Amino acid sequence: MTRINGFIGRRSFMQLAGMAGVGMAATAGSGILWKPEDALAQSPATPTKPQPVSPDAALKQLLEGNQRFIDGKRQNPHQSRLRLQETAVAQYPFASVLGCADSRVPAEIVFDQGLGDLFVVRVAGNVASQTAIGSLEFSTAVLGSQLIVVVGHSRCGAVTAAVKGDPLPGRIGVFVEEIKPAVARVRAKTGDLEQNAVIANVQYQAQKLAESSTILGGLIQEGKLKIVGGRYDLATGKFTIVT
Ligand SMILES: [Zn+2]
Repeated sequence: MTRINGFIGRRSFMQLAGMAGVGMAATAGSGILWKPEDALAQSPATPTKPQPVSPDAALKQLLEGNQRFIDGKRQNPHQSRLRLQETAVAQYPFASVLGCADSRVPAEIVFDQGLGDLFVVRVAGNVASQTAIGSLEFSTAVLGSQLIVVVGHSRCGAVTAAVKGDPLPGRIGVFVEEIKPAVARVRAKTGDLEQNAVIANVQYQAQKLAESSTILGGLIQEGKLKIVGGRYDLATGKFTIVT
């Protein structure tokens, strides 16, 4: 509990406790080993809670960062010692990402962001698994992020595996199964099946986030969340919105 408390900050924790409707508030701030108030008092750079970044402004920031990356003009923002100290106390990521675990698509680099900017969930095939959905419910409802970007990419091995449909060892098949419904949507479509499947998978996972989570769906209804999907091109570095 203490660790969770430290992770999200006391105020957010209280919100989470209230939202969950359980008796966690009684333990908030009463950690024996660590109190967020102590950290705030000792911190040389106490952050104040910023205004939430609107979904459209958040998307603009991401797209501008991606353009800097493409142009070879990365600013590597928010990577200073001061930022490190600020974000050690609390985090207010302006956007959340559900991306593929592929080593060639690191969100902070391709969107040119820094510490505390993005709440990133990466899993092979950028699938909206139960744990991914839970993580994104946390980043939006508790941490205040108002944008989720689903980031698929060209030549995604997970999507290729779902297209082929061959048996897979261990638990590799678990996430591949979660991509198959997306592949089924475009199997009869003309054009390159794998490329179509990458886009279909982004759309399918984005739709799954919005429709299977009452928390995310509720935030969308309130105008406090947008879910956007796009395709990242491994060769050019460009992120293009597809849904
Ligand atoms: Zn991938």
